[in-house]
Amino acid sequence: MIRKLLVLLFLCAGTIAAQTTAIRAGNLIDPATGAVAKNQIILVKDGKIAEVGASVKIPAGAQVVDLSNAWVMPGLMDAHTHMTLGSPGELSLEGEYLKASSALRALNGLRNAQDVLMAGFTALKDIGNDANYTAIDIRRAIERGWFAGPTMLTTGKIIAPFGGQSHGVPPEMGPFWRFEYQDADTPEEVRKAVRQNIYYGANAIKLVADNSPFFYSEEEIRAAVSEAHRAGITVGVHVMGGQAARNVILGGADSVEHGFDLSDELLQLMKEKGTVLVGTDFPYEHLKAMGTAGGILPPAEVVSKGIIDRLRRAHKIGVKMAFGTDVVMDPAGKTRADMMLDYLAVWTEAGVPPAEILKCMTTNVAELFGWKGKRGAIAAGEAADIIATSTNPLENIQALRKVQFVMKDGRVVEK
Ligand SMILES: [Zn+2]
Repeated sequence: MIRKLLVLLFLCAGTIAAQTTAIRAGNLIDPATGAVAKNQIILVKDGKIAEVGASVKIPAGAQVVDLSNAWVMPGLMDAHTHMTLGSPGELSLEGEYLKASSALRALNGLRNAQDVLMAGFTALKDIGNDANYTAIDIRRAIERGWFAGPTMLTTGKIIAPFGGQSHGVPPEMGPFWRFEYQDADTPEEVRKAVRQNIYYGANAIKLVADNSPFFYSEEEIRAAVSEAHRAGITVGVHVMGGQAARNVILGGADSVEHGFDLSDELLQLMKEKGTVLVGTDFPYEHLKAMGTAGGILPPAEVVSKGIIDRLRRAHKIGVKMAFGTDVVMDPAGKTRADMMLDYLAVWTEAGVPPAEILKCMTTNVAELFGWKGKRGAIAAGEAADIIATSTNPLENIQALRKVQFVMKDGRVVEK
């Protein structure tokens, strides 16, 4: 009985203390400006940042986190992930449907979501290929507090012209790609597909525009965008370049996903229209391991060169960019977060400075997600998604590979 009482007292004390946390931040980075403020106090109450400043008073009884020797910043974000895809070798989308159940893929997705949170990614977009809407259930489980995990946007089934992202399936096999895709081939069908996804719980929309010689018209893109925007959610479109990309940009999509073949002229058009580039700038080693991804990609050598060149041009032109990785493999010995952080080297190789990379991993993703003022900055009123590194990421972005502290919605994440 006494023991039970002690446990209860301990739990109560823990709850009261957890209501206010004070973080001593030796170096507080604002990714939006690249500025560093020294010796700041961040006060966290009820999952949100209450106050930030050098002269903020720490209330009696507050739990104090000492990060006075660390570099503190908002949690990282990834605008293009597939938590439930986890091929151990060369990727084949169809192989995933045939060889892994939705339950197994949901569990793998949850494992990946927890893993990336521990590494410092406090928010992400799961952009489809999610085994018949399982990523939406992962999101729900995290939102209900059953598991610690990042804040998630989930797109549900990918909307595409007939055939999803499958190539050369014989007619007698039937349209089995509909396990992860919705065929939509007129503006009306696109509208219906958007509504269907929202009905099943999607809080973002993903289209694949140009998987075949036929591709979405500006009118079809516009139909998806107007339907999604009316429901208060955004549209990201997989497109590589050329006329298909022009249709996506002019159709008003919020982001272009991949865009490996974008010309300077199209990048300029994106800048004018405010279209965000989520470049999924794959490292060469990943491309090599993925192979052609079932006919979706050209050889690794070709894609890799093109990606670095496109990233360099996009940065020079000044297109707004958001960090997005597109990792679809779980190779032995590497975590999902390890794989995502491998992309940092590609950004550096393309000449993007560390401060800009960090901005693309925080501020810019939060804006693309429609979270300005809510998440993605360390300021009063924002969600308390806070991370820290022991070395300065503004000097060497590789510092992000070793995040020593993670707070999600005001709770310290146990490593
Ligand atoms: Zn993808």
